[in-house]
Amino acid sequence: MIKEAFNPFRMAQAQFDSVADKLELDAATRDLLRNPMREYSFNIPIQMDDGSRKVFRGFRVQHNDARGPCKGGIRFHPQETIDTVRALSMWMTWKCAVVDIPLGGGKGGVICDPHNLSAREQEQICRMWVRQLSRDVGPIADVPAPDVMTSAQHMLWMLDEYETIHGGKYPGFITGKPVGMGGSMGRTEATGFGVVYTIREALRLLNVRPEDTIASVQGFGNVAQFAIRLYQQIGGTVICVSCWDQNDQTSYSFRKKDGVDLDALLKITDRFGGIDKDKARDMGYEILDGEAWLEQDVDILIPAALENQITEDNAGKISSRVKVIGEGANGPTTPEADKIIAKKNIFMIPDFLANAGGVTCSYFEQVQSNMNYFWEKDEVLGKLDVKMTSAFLAVSELARKQKMYMREAAYVISVGRVAQACKERGWV
Ligand code: NAD
Repeated sequence: MIKEAFNPFRMAQAQFDSVADKLELDAATRDLLRNPMREYSFNIPIQMDDGSRKVFRGFRVQHNDARGPCKGGIRFHPQETIDTVRALSMWMTWKCAVVDIPLGGGKGGVICDPHNLSAREQEQICRMWVRQLSRDVGPIADVPAPDVMTSAQHMLWMLDEYETIHGGKYPGFITGKPVGMGGSMGRTEATGFGVVYTIREALRLLNVRPEDTIASVQGFGNVAQFAIRLYQQIGGTVICVSCWDQNDQTSYSFRKKDGVDLDALLKITDRFGGIDKDKARDMGYEILDGEAWLEQDVDILIPAALENQITEDNAGKISSRVKVIGEGANGPTTPEADKIIAKKNIFMIPDFLANAGGVTCSYFEQVQSNMNYFWEKDEVLGKLDVKMTSAFLAVSELARKQKMYMREAAYVISVGRVAQACKERGWV
């Protein structure tokens, strides 16, 4: 029998169905929430640099806006599919709801490979994407952001097109803009710092002092670097990090038992989060295989690289010393591995709670842009801490009271909030 290809939207729907059963949602609410409210799928014809015309396919999916304007990134990827965009838009709805920000879930994409497109061609795609959707997105309807292979520059092109069409300044239309052009201070740190705010709270619940803990991290990109920075500031020691090696086309773990030196490692790391392994060896790091980060004798594991990393094949190798897993990445743990982790009695901080600092800071960017008044970095990070901490406490309290796994409790809270908003609006 041919195995069906992995479909993220089917997985997102299956996750929703199981929470819907738990919450005993009625049939109409289920029908409303298990599918996006609106989907746009359209052609993007542009002129290439050689004078030829080429047509790309673009998408925007608005999963649910009962709690506020839709929010979510735009991804440029050759393997983009409408089902990936649908799944990601649904997960955005739950992520915004779990941190209780007044936003819904959306996601967009274009099937293209920016590696093979000039800056001018990418600008044309950005402008045409906005032209096709100019009536359906906007600061009070749907607020896009960067995602895989889109950057602050893409956001500025899109903003410029939107403002040209609508004849005014609307910096709240889009987030992920550069600081000084409507971006927020603290956005670069937000996701990694958010992960550590939740880990700090988990340790408090477990009565463990951060100073007495050591951690191992998968990944050494934006999320991992800032998670390590703050974790070290609160007294923790990171003994192992891992990353992808572009030359060898494999991943490695870098271990230093008395603690990695973040600033020294950053000096030998490229912009994609790849560490130079020869230089690291010269600096006294042990170079281990890619999975070694998971097998370390530590108190905390932070998967902050990519999805599908802790599986039923390797979850058994997690040390009995591990007390907390803080998921920086989206979807690093499979449902089968969750069962093993739950049995080991490890405190799991699930992805859409742990890494919600990014979207929370994007919300702050949107608020600041709409007011045209920008806060200092300390103010942004202070507000972020408050939001992340209260979201964590709400989820952990429910998990404790109902004896639920943390991931399940997070889903129950977020789906419950969105279902209630739909009901109160009279939609179902
Ligand atoms: P990034 O591109 O900056 O860094 C990714 C890191 O993972 C790099 O160090 C890379 O070498 C490493 N890596 C890739 N494949 C690996 C492998 N097989 N083994 C070990 N390391 C590997 O990405 P990022 O922005 O730090 O995002 C990391 C994860 O966090 C992703 O799942 C992303 O969706 C999620 N996330 C990011 C944000 C954000 O604001 N950046 C917000 C929410 C969720």
